[in-house]
Amino acid sequence: MSADILQGFSTLTLSVKQLSRLLRLSDLLPSSLPSPCPTVAASQVPALFREPYILSGYRPIQQDWRCYLLSLFQWHNETLNVWTHLLAAPALLFLWWANVGTLGYTSNAASLPLVLFMVSSLTYLCLSVAAHLLQSHSERAHYYFFFLDYVGVAVYQYGCSLGHFFYSSEPAWRDSIGMMFLPGAAFFGWLSCAGCCFAKARYRRPYPLQRKICQLIPTSLAYVLDISPIAHRLLTVPWSQEASLPFHALQIGSFILAAFFFSCPIPERFFPGGCDFVGQGHQVFHLFLSLCTVFQLEALFLDYARRRDAVLDVFGERQLWWACVSFPCLFMCCILTSLIAMRHMNKILQHVEKKK
Ligand SMILES: [Zn+2]
Repeated sequence: MSADILQGFSTLTLSVKQLSRLLRLSDLLPSSLPSPCPTVAASQVPALFREPYILSGYRPIQQDWRCYLLSLFQWHNETLNVWTHLLAAPALLFLWWANVGTLGYTSNAASLPLVLFMVSSLTYLCLSVAAHLLQSHSERAHYYFFFLDYVGVAVYQYGCSLGHFFYSSEPAWRDSIGMMFLPGAAFFGWLSCAGCCFAKARYRRPYPLQRKICQLIPTSLAYVLDISPIAHRLLTVPWSQEASLPFHALQIGSFILAAFFFSCPIPERFFPGGCDFVGQGHQVFHLFLSLCTVFQLEALFLDYARRRDAVLDVFGERQLWWACVSFPCLFMCCILTSLIAMRHMNKILQHVEKKK
């Protein structure tokens, strides 16, 4: 009996092995494509690429660009950072499509902030995927792609502000800081991009506390302002009265958890080398940020469906268009800031290369 079980087990193991060999995506690719090198230990990559308490799973630098693209299907310490944001994009598109079917959507000035929120979400997700997938190519690439990642964060913050302002704010809140809100949100969005670029360009590993301060203070200020219409509404309107309010509460909860895991290298701090591939704080941060965006989209769509007829009367078509023109302006300002940071880093890297 036990021999039969063992026989059956070994047959099953063989079948699983054969099946996994069959399903290996790299085998399906043309043989002319380069295959990514095996991952290496932290000591084998420059200090810039080493993450605290992550001891292995690094992709060697200076491979062919196609190797980093193909590393999407390789198991390394950035795989889950890439996939957590890569899968969030189709999830958002699906949610959009489902809401258009159930709640309805009309393409006019009133729907512009909702479209821009969606564009900003997809932008930050795509730029984050590009950064985590391609940054290992070289020190230059690392800086370039993370500067662009910060552009995505700023644009997303402003996209949220537009949605919160036009669909989710209460008249009493608008009477207090309404006029200052969007210019302030645009300024703090840009400041968070500039602060993150400055911190990245200024400080070297092991990073001092000042680096986190430069990143977190502008981003926190931007968040506090962006979320103020929602916080006010959650505190003044009974949650059972409007279907969107529990989703707004969930988006705030997810964001607080995301911010916690972004700021602290937990749980890897307690298991150095134990979270190299799965369970890093940054992966958990990506998961909660993706969840935050999903809850936000659901909440904003519900608010849009409820208030779309009133939006034009309350704000006027002109204010809607102006607010939406400010979105590409902020995008351009952030791109310009990241280009300045790139130029600065390029000079430093050229100087270091000459000295070698
Ligand atoms: Zn990330």
